Order: sequence, then C-alpha cells, then structure tokens
Amino acid sequence: MLKCDFCGKETSSVTRVALDREYDRLTVKHEKRFACPECSGKKEKERQARLKTAQKAE
Ligand SMILES: [Zn+2]
Repeated sequence: MLKCDFCGKETSSVTRVALDREYDRLTVKHEKRFACPECSGKKEKERQARLKTAQKAE
C-alpha cells in the first residue's frame, strides 16, 4: 500500500503531484509527492486557483 503525502491515507493508487515552481520554492528539499485521488483533485483545484490569482495580479 502507498501512503498519500497529504492526508496520510493508505491507498492502492496514488498520483504523483506535479508541484509548480512557486510551491517548490516553499519547500526546503525537493520531495516526491504522492496524493490519493481525492487529494490529487484538491491539489489540482488549488493549482488552478493559484494560476487564476497570479493572472489577476498582473
Ligand atoms: Zn490524500
């Protein structure tokens, strides 16, 4: 079983989350992040929201 890096839930299928550069800078080291389908969807939504926010700021 693999463990979700975000909620800690054990799941048989995890998605490797592609962290954008902005998020990467906040982490000390570059880690592989795996998310369960639920967290993966949540992260993707957050990413889209961040992109929208960034575009508005320009
Ligand atoms: Zn999760």
